[in-house]
Amino acid sequence: MVDTSARLNFIYEELQRLEAESLLINIRTIESPADAWMVVDGRRVLNFCTNNYLGLANHPRLRQAAQEAIERWGVGPAAVRTIAGTTALHRELEQRLAAFKGVEDALFVQSGFNANQAAIPPLVGKGDVIFSDRLNHASIIDGCRLSGAKIIVYEHCDPADAEAKIKEHLPQYRRGLLVTDGVFSMDGDIAPLDRLYEVAQRYGVMTMVDDAHGEGVLGRGGRGIVDHFDLHGRIDVEIGTLSKAFGVVGGVIAGKKLIVDYIRQKARPFLFSSATTPADTAACLAAVDLLEESEERVQKLWDNARYLRAGMEELGFDTGHSQTPILPIMLGEAGLAKTFSQRLFTEGVFAMSIGFPTVPRGLARIRVMNTAAHHHDDLDFGLEVFAKVGRELGVIS
Ligand SMILES: *Cc1c(COP(=O)(O)O)cnc(C)c1O
Repeated sequence: MVDTSARLNFIYEELQRLEAESLLINIRTIESPADAWMVVDGRRVLNFCTNNYLGLANHPRLRQAAQEAIERWGVGPAAVRTIAGTTALHRELEQRLAAFKGVEDALFVQSGFNANQAAIPPLVGKGDVIFSDRLNHASIIDGCRLSGAKIIVYEHCDPADAEAKIKEHLPQYRRGLLVTDGVFSMDGDIAPLDRLYEVAQRYGVMTMVDDAHGEGVLGRGGRGIVDHFDLHGRIDVEIGTLSKAFGVVGGVIAGKKLIVDYIRQKARPFLFSSATTPADTAACLAAVDLLEESEERVQKLWDNARYLRAGMEELGFDTGHSQTPILPIMLGEAGLAKTFSQRLFTEGVFAMSIGFPTVPRGLARIRVMNTAAHHHDDLDFGLEVFAKVGRELGVIS
């Protein structure tokens, strides 16, 4: 008889290792809508964790739009988009998103993660090459791997290195794609998209930017990174998400009609996974309405971000090199970041620690996310608690 009892030991050992390295993720349970304050694991705490930049996740207009859509359309999509799942709501949302972003057309998919899986493989495959920023998001990396193209990593936000890599490698391949995050989700810095575009343009390389953390944040009224750099019509593919600033769920692939038409024919998450629900799609439409009506929420977000950053820096925290409302509090070791987060929670502040593999080893941090739904009073409370825990753990003096 073969002993098979050891066949799952590898799982046990890996979980033990993660625990020993303070990398085991403690998943908390949320018991209220996403807002400035939330009930988490039974406690009311100040929320510094969500990507709900503009406070739309629990906005009355979005809730109402979702409820009305259920009354009119029911709850399930009943099919993939290419068979019987494309409703008038989906098409309307795509047209509205294209107009908002100033592109010819847009394709709405189930999530930002899916959008990268959908968009990259049709553009490049075996025999092609991708130039990818060292700190690109996991969904970009997975989309690149899925494509089968050769992946060449260039140094973070470094157009000169991107150019050197393109010069060296492009001649060995059929065609190239340069892909970057717009705003880097863990550091909050902004890709130098204007200079990356110039480099790509010089060598005839296609360009793609994932604007998940730029939409609703950067550009006029939150129109995103392409608007921020005034690169309209230049970047080939813009990826976006409806699950951050837009407050709902879904992903978007935007650009020239030619490219979007092509991806609509080829994208596997679009062809083989069901459409988003009517409630989600209608709520996304309501979010676009709100963004187009007023820039007030975007301004509030930035006002809060400046206030919070100034407060943290005054206390002596290392806030990295963020240029956006994403505020990393750099702590170094994963164990310290985890203890810090647990102490914050006990004191009434919900801010999760982030370690490897989401960020490089030795660069663990607490990522603080304010929203337009926070008031200065809330931020003052958060700063007080950070000061207390920071002194207690010897991070600040
Ligand atoms: C969050 C994020 C995604 C994933 O978006 P979802 O809609 O949550 O799937 C994709 N890309 C980047 C850069 C992100 O930050």
